[in-house]
Amino acid sequence: MTQVYDKVALIGLGLIAGSMAHAMREGGLAGRITGYARSAETRDTARQIALCEVCDSAAEAVAGADLVVLAVPVGAMADVMTQITPHLAPGVTITDVGSVKQSVIDAVTPHLPAGAHFIPGHPLAGTEHSGPRAGFASLFRNRWWLLTPLPDTDPDALARLDRLITAMGAKTDRMDAAHHDLVLAVTSHAPHLIAYTMVGVADHLRRVSGEEVIQYSAAGFRDFTRIAASDPTMWRDVFLHNKEATLDILGRFTEELFVLQRAIRMGDGQQLHDYFTRTRAIRRGII
Ligand code: NAD
Repeated sequence: MTQVYDKVALIGLGLIAGSMAHAMREGGLAGRITGYARSAETRDTARQIALCEVCDSAAEAVAGADLVVLAVPVGAMADVMTQITPHLAPGVTITDVGSVKQSVIDAVTPHLPAGAHFIPGHPLAGTEHSGPRAGFASLFRNRWWLLTPLPDTDPDALARLDRLITAMGAKTDRMDAAHHDLVLAVTSHAPHLIAYTMVGVADHLRRVSGEEVIQYSAAGFRDFTRIAASDPTMWRDVFLHNKEATLDILGRFTEELFVLQRAIRMGDGQQLHDYFTRTRAIRRGII
């Protein structure tokens, strides 16, 4: 592999930034990798595992970097930009990995210095684990990494970022930010909310009935609710920043649920069977 950037600064040192650090090191894709996270404990952990050159300020991490990656919860993007803007190198490329795109664009663009290239992005890869120890080099392998470039995005800066991402093993695609937010509300955001709710319902039942519902959780419950172990700050921010699309999808989900609820009440086995046959075929088509 050949080096794509001279110095990459990772702001936020969690699952995604950590996985990028591993993948970039493994592929020799960056001359230097610096990093900063707000909490001293996270920085200490990152130092202990030698994730990258850990700095004690965001300003120090981004100084002289030709790529800056914003890998913090989406609600923290504007705060990070306030800290780093005066210290960015001329011609720097800034990307983010946030799960929501339009609100990140709105938060970042007012802070951009002249000549900086901002290319929003979102790796469709993750686990329910968080923090610097959660990262691993193969996280992005064969996964989509969506880029939502702005109309005036510099094509050379875009091509260079694309090279880095594909060298980490991911497949890239371009998408409009608003469309991204709607698609992800269906495929990621609403499922997380429903998984959190399912655990909440089981816990409520346990509390009112005293039964050990969760202790005897069946495979379906375990598989389905795995993602409810995900980081609360990250997911709070996703819902607060993708409000309209999430509410739209939850409305559609509720309608479907009512259809099935009615079919169960009416004993309409044919409707249930048809529905499950159709959705099974769709699910089996997803690799
Ligand atoms: P994480 O919780 O593992 O790490 C977040 C990091 O951000 C931590 O190091 C934390 O200390 C740091 N941080 C928080 N606020 C900060 C601030 N104001 N200044 C500096 N550092 C700050 O989270 P993650 O899973 O790596 O997620 C990072 C981003 O990637 C989020 O925007 C998330 O939406 C997105 N994302 C997550 C996943 C996933 O499955 N976890 C997948 C794709 C994209």
